Amino acid sequence: MTVTEVPRTDEQVRQAVVAWLRASLPPTWVAAIDTGDAAELQRARALVGYDEWCARLGEAGWATPTWPREYGGAGLEPSQARIVNEELTRYKVPRSFNVIGIGMGGPTILHWGTEEQRQRYLAPMAQHREIWCQLFSEPGAGSDVAGLSTRAVRDGDEWVVSGQKVWTTLAHIASFGMLVARSDPDQPKHKGLTYFIVDMKAPGVEVRPLRQMTGDAEFNEVFFAEVRIPDSARVGPVGEGWAVATTTLMNERVALSGAGSASGESVGGGPVDGLVGVARKLGRWGDPVLRQRLMQAVIESRVVKITNFRAAAARRAGRQPGPEGSITKLFAAEHNQRVQELAVELLGARAMAWPRSDDEAGSTVRGFLRSRANTIEGGTSEIMRNILGERVLGLPKEPAVDRDLPWKDIPRSQ
Ligand SMILES: Cc1cc2nc3c(=O)[nH]c(=O)nc-3n(C[C@H](O)[C@H](O)[C@H](O)COP(=O)(O)OP(=O)(O)OC[C@H]3O[C@@H](n4cnc5c(N)ncnc54)[C@H](O)[C@@H]3O)c2cc1C
Repeated sequence: MTVTEVPRTDEQVRQAVVAWLRASLPPTWVAAIDTGDAAELQRARALVGYDEWCARLGEAGWATPTWPREYGGAGLEPSQARIVNEELTRYKVPRSFNVIGIGMGGPTILHWGTEEQRQRYLAPMAQHREIWCQLFSEPGAGSDVAGLSTRAVRDGDEWVVSGQKVWTTLAHIASFGMLVARSDPDQPKHKGLTYFIVDMKAPGVEVRPLRQMTGDAEFNEVFFAEVRIPDSARVGPVGEGWAVATTTLMNERVALSGAGSASGESVGGGPVDGLVGVARKLGRWGDPVLRQRLMQAVIESRVVKITNFRAAAARRAGRQPGPEGSITKLFAAEHNQRVQELAVELLGARAMAWPRSDDEAGSTVRGFLRSRANTIEGGTSEIMRNILGERVLGLPKEPAVDRDLPWKDIPRSQ
């Protein structure tokens, strides 16, 4: 069954995605899921190429179930997308790592992009054929991203961009980036920004990878030396880049809170509840303090899920992601750090040195190290608390002495 034949009740959506999965996966994969045979599943997974699989998932519309069908989605409601994600998780299928594109760039282009931009960029993004990155943060502008310095100067039908970005996840393999640049330094900082789609292979774009403590190099510095961007790659009106960027950032919080995916947090490759099994296996279940912490972790994990359901209900009611994205982003980040610390503590000395063959220890420690970034990436926890204080609790706004000054007159170190 293809997406075009999908009828609209929840049960019919579930049947359609299951039918597609059973027809598209190798029969040994389907049999391994039916029987719960983990070893057979591992053998079956080796038969499927990751890139090719992600492309097929995208072509079927299941990678972006809520996008309109004409742009490569399945045209489903958010609650039905959750059903799709549940089944993809149940069948343990790989998903595209193109989350910056699918989770943030896509919704921004759907909301602000021209028809031409939607036709050109959305389907290859959903199909994992073109990877995207987000070029917002700079050495002098992270939390205060509206203060950024990268300049965009108009030259006829083109813009000439010069400056530097940092922490740009996936820039080293990205085809396109979402770029916010300063188009008018005479305006206050939020008003003189414009949003562009930049071709990461354009002359003048230089990407330098940064190594992080997990040993991976997920993110990069990106330098722009008089890079020419056609005006047709501008997203939204000139000077409205802050409003467009806000759409991207709201969707980022939803994506980072786990609301955009079904998998949520994972410990050593498994769900949080799995830690209970680990504690039992290691003979630690009798420790009442540890047991209490484990239960707290399981409860928090449920709270994240339920809050995400609430956010999905708000989207279903037609609202753009709002401050509730900040609640789940803040809570999920700190919860994940607590869970990863607990997982490492459970392993004890095994988490300090382990043989290469010990995948469980390797992935648990990697999860712990990676989780340190959770309270920084996508907006720090302090910034999330500011947003919640101001927009949800109605507390007085943080003093901002530079808000109305022309950007060029704001003192800065560079
Ligand atoms: C793993 C990872 C991936 C990332 N990927 C990307 C990416 O793909 N694209 C991208 O553009 N950026 C990316 N970032 C950058 C990220 O958005 C910034 O690191 C983040 O916004 C914080 O900015 P900063 O690092 O400049 O810290 P700063 O803004 O300099 O903050 C330093 C400290 O001061 C605190 N602080 C700052 N302002 C306030 C305030 N007003 N009130 C209270 N406390 C405050 C902060 O909470 C923090 O503790 C990534 C970061 C990480 C860690």
